[in-house]
Amino acid sequence: MTTVGVVGRQITVRGRVQGVGFRPFVWRLAHEAAVTGHVLNDGAGVRIEVWGKSADLDRLLHELERDPPLLARIEAVVWTVLEGLPPDQFQIVQSGGGDINTQVTPDAATCPDCLREICDPADRRYRYAFTNCTHCGPRLSIVEGIPYDRARTSMRTFDMCDDCRREYEDPADRRFHAQPNACPVCGPRLWIEDVQGEVAGGDPIHDAVRRLRDSQIIAVKGIGGFHLTCDATNADVVAELRRRKRRVAKPLALMAKDLDQIREFCDVTGPEADLLSSSIAPIVLLRNRDRAGLIGVAPGLNCVGVMLPQSPLHHLLLAEFGGPLVMTSGNAANTPQVTDNAQARTDLAGIADAWLLHDRDIVNRLDDSIMRVDLAAPVVFRRGRGMAPAAIRLHERFAEAPPTLAMGAELKSTFCLIKGVQAIPSQHIGDLKNAETYADYREKVTLFRDLYQFDPAVVAVDLHPDYLSTKWGERLAQDTGATLIRVQHHHAHLVGCLAEHQVDPEDAKTVGVILDGTGLGTDGTIWGGEILLGDYAGFERKAHFAPVALPGGEQAVLEPWRNLVAHLVAAFGIDWRVHLVGTGLAGPTDEKPVDLIERMIAQRLNAPLASSAGRLFDAVAAALGIVFDRQHYEGQAAMELEALVAGSVPATGYPVCVADNTLSWRPMWMALLDDLRSGVDHGVIAARFHGGLVVALADVVTQVATEAGTGRIVLSGGVMQNRLLVEGVYARLRSNGFNVLAHRQVPANDGGISLGQAAIAALS
Ligand code: ZN
Ligand code: ZN
Ligand code: FE
Repeated sequence: MTTVGVVGRQITVRGRVQGVGFRPFVWRLAHEAAVTGHVLNDGAGVRIEVWGKSADLDRLLHELERDPPLLARIEAVVWTVLEGLPPDQFQIVQSGGGDINTQVTPDAATCPDCLREICDPADRRYRYAFTNCTHCGPRLSIVEGIPYDRARTSMRTFDMCDDCRREYEDPADRRFHAQPNACPVCGPRLWIEDVQGEVAGGDPIHDAVRRLRDSQIIAVKGIGGFHLTCDATNADVVAELRRRKRRVAKPLALMAKDLDQIREFCDVTGPEADLLSSSIAPIVLLRNRDRAGLIGVAPGLNCVGVMLPQSPLHHLLLAEFGGPLVMTSGNAANTPQVTDNAQARTDLAGIADAWLLHDRDIVNRLDDSIMRVDLAAPVVFRRGRGMAPAAIRLHERFAEAPPTLAMGAELKSTFCLIKGVQAIPSQHIGDLKNAETYADYREKVTLFRDLYQFDPAVVAVDLHPDYLSTKWGERLAQDTGATLIRVQHHHAHLVGCLAEHQVDPEDAKTVGVILDGTGLGTDGTIWGGEILLGDYAGFERKAHFAPVALPGGEQAVLEPWRNLVAHLVAAFGIDWRVHLVGTGLAGPTDEKPVDLIERMIAQRLNAPLASSAGRLFDAVAAALGIVFDRQHYEGQAAMELEALVAGSVPATGYPVCVADNTLSWRPMWMALLDDLRSGVDHGVIAARFHGGLVVALADVVTQVATEAGTGRIVLSGGVMQNRLLVEGVYARLRSNGFNVLAHRQVPANDGGISLGQAAIAALS
């Protein structure tokens, strides 16, 4: 090459550019452009030094941003002029620095190229269930430690054949440095077992499909854990699955073979289609048009959770079966999703009729991510497979923050690391009161500390002393000598949202509308319907829902009728029964031990006061006869209440009393009971309840924000996952001129608590 007209440039690319095939991508561009130099990973991302004609370098820069690898997310590309002599070729240089090569990326659903290969009879990976490449395949689910290479994944037991190794070593190949690379000759294999443990001969996919058509329930080993699957259009087998799994009412997720199939029973908007087809392949909550065709899948709800195939195995299964399948987590009631073969054989015995297994171990359990499109953009309900452990970028003022580990809440538990401007939330782990889940949580904390070479200087926990996450955090702080910081639950909800929106800590004054079930307040009572004014550093409780007794404590969370009685007592005092005349509620309440409940409330016996928004929804649901006796899953009453409302929330609704910074419900109950007496449709009553709440919240928030001189509002808490509420409050506050922030990257529920805790503690 002549050096005439040759110039040098140093290009830095920031964003998610490590572990996603970015260096071979640059290598290919450089070879196409016939320029020389090298590319390497550095602490900031990818650094390229390149020499060539100006026009060629311009084109390379253009191509770099135009068509990056599927899993890459470019945040910035900057370049400077480079002095020195051009080398005579272009190379990928091994990285030198300390925490390079440690990048673990989320698991990614099958890419279009791999999908084409498994469908092509002439391809060597035709119908191969473990096909993957740099753009797709298992990642966090198979990682055992760092640095991220095959020897520290569950692929280490498979030696690559010559063909696979050639691909792995060729920078021009799509499988260059694809750690889980495999083929039918050298990689994992699939088989099917029956109840007796007999392995059937023949093609396991054919066998599985034959069984599914025969109304059988099959345990399928997926990416992050086992699923239980059956024909979604066969109401009998769906009922049988519920019976065997003792899952009475909780909605079951579906998997469909493609978008067209989903459109047969759901309305799918553009953003929803994008989300379904993304590398996350999450469960997306969609409006169910054809409830008659899917009996028993999501009883009492007008939404259904649907996903597309997440791996070649699922593509093969769905393509051959044809119709949609139920794809629900493979576990016995109240235990975490099963991940290994032996455990699947025992734990799922009595539930499954057959097991579709393989010999690639799942190292890290990852539940399916659950998302929905609200206000035209995705929101997360559960951050799991495909999302974890992607980092969330924080405001640049976090650059100097000490390494911080936040332990999360207890029920929808996650933990979170803060390392400079990056927050790394764990995947959804679940209810720590389950011993296996708690063990898994502690293991994952250790794994993440290893993966990110992370020694916390600060450990953040919830104010609640009895949360198991609090206890483990206290112990970790003691063992590591880290500073322990206790964070109020609803403050963490608020700041989680500020953090993910990169709100500047120096200018973060915000009004938070935080509605959830329960969290411990700074005054020792239980909170859950909170209007806070605060920032990363602190908060004031500006207004709240009226405290109402929780008769029986935990029992009140399970049994909505208890909240109905407690709310009526709070609204009307000892005369509450009089108000039920003619409403149809006198009979059902009389069948309950209400005298006892009244005594508990009057004498404050196991009936703590709580300003909980969740329990208000439970009480209203019970008044409409929705899950009056007992909830079969968390949030059931509130979800079914929301589902009763056809269309959007009305502009007005039941009156709410706002006095002394307290929202209370006597006028609402008067109007609601009147409507019951006049036989008003329950859908209309549910709509009026939502409407009244929206108006009251918007009014209070507007007043608080105006007095405080801030234009920023955050909506958070598990109850804020109610679409009618979010959209209603959002619209009213926007029209009042406020900047309204909702969660986008972590859940509004307690799954988002750890991010808020971490951000508060890191800056304190
Ligand atoms: Zn691929
Ligand atoms: Zn091979
Ligand atoms: Fe909460």
